[in-house]
Amino acid sequence: MRSFCLPGIDFVSGSRVALPGELKKHIEKVLRLKPGARIHLFDGTGRYAEAVLLADAQVELGTVAEQPAPPCRITLIQGIPKGDKLELILQKGTELGVSHFVLVPMERSVGRIADNRREERLERWGKIIQEAARQCHQYHLPQLDLPSSFSTTLADAEGDEKLFLWEESQAALAGGFAAAQPRSVVVVVGPEGGMSAAEATLAETHGFRSVSLGPRILRTETAGLAIVAILQYLYGDMAGV
Ligand code: SAH
Repeated sequence: MRSFCLPGIDFVSGSRVALPGELKKHIEKVLRLKPGARIHLFDGTGRYAEAVLLADAQVELGTVAEQPAPPCRITLIQGIPKGDKLELILQKGTELGVSHFVLVPMERSVGRIADNRREERLERWGKIIQEAARQCHQYHLPQLDLPSSFSTTLADAEGDEKLFLWEESQAALAGGFAAAQPRSVVVVVGPEGGMSAAEATLAETHGFRSVSLGPRILRTETAGLAIVAILQYLYGDMAGV
């Protein structure tokens, strides 16, 4: 069942909704879906409806439902890496169930986002997340933030568990969790150049604890995706059906 995101849609079962131009064109010209085709429409808050395509690029809404909220809300605080890596992290992180992406400049970040390109970048990354959510049927659209301060980001972070991935950490991941079933985990991943000792200390000051992901040095895009998959197995929705 193909899914399409329509933020702000008014979910009334039995009602008819006109598809916006871009989506209408994609469904009719690219996907060549015909009247009678069944699709899912979701608004990004978890609600979705089965819908039937009608002749005049309208859809008729059927049953409205709510996708279960993730058992564990995962926030990925990602030290900004270089361009294409970031897009991979957003796409794969969405598939793996990241609820909140926080892209933050760190001391050794090579990637930088110029102020005059900030809105354009946010829009592009938002589309990448929305397309990944559509493809994997993630109806709780991940949040995306682009704060300017690592320190403020750490200070504002809230979670049952707060971790930072550090290849020099002596703390094993296993057995280190205080809560039996954390409802929210915030995890920091450094950029390609890693976290500085000062950043590691700052994270600890704000209640984050370091964890190791084993003996190999993972690329920044690998480390974040690995920890999200592990957390989803331990506390999220990847351990069972
Ligand atoms: N300092 C590394 C590069 C950093 S890797 C080097 O010498 O090449 C990018 C980020 O991935 C790190 O900041 C850390 O957050 C995470 N990371 C990579 N390997 C890790 C490991 N084995 N354990 C914990 N974190 C790791």
